[in-house]
Amino acid sequence: MKDKRLEEKPACSVKSAPFPTEVICTQCGHAVEVWSDEPESRCSSCGCTVENRALVNH
Ligand SMILES: [Zn+2]
Repeated sequence: MKDKRLEEKPACSVKSAPFPTEVICTQCGHAVEVWSDEPESRCSSCGCTVENRALVNH
């Protein structure tokens, strides 16, 4: 059997340019701006850490 196709990287693995996105803080509900290439950021309202859910989507 030939499995050459498994060696090719899927298109979704290509990194796109980072962009700011809003994540709602789970502690206080404040909208926190998180860059798309950052796994997490700090809430400017309560100081807790918010996860960038868009980054762990896949
Ligand atoms: Zn907060």
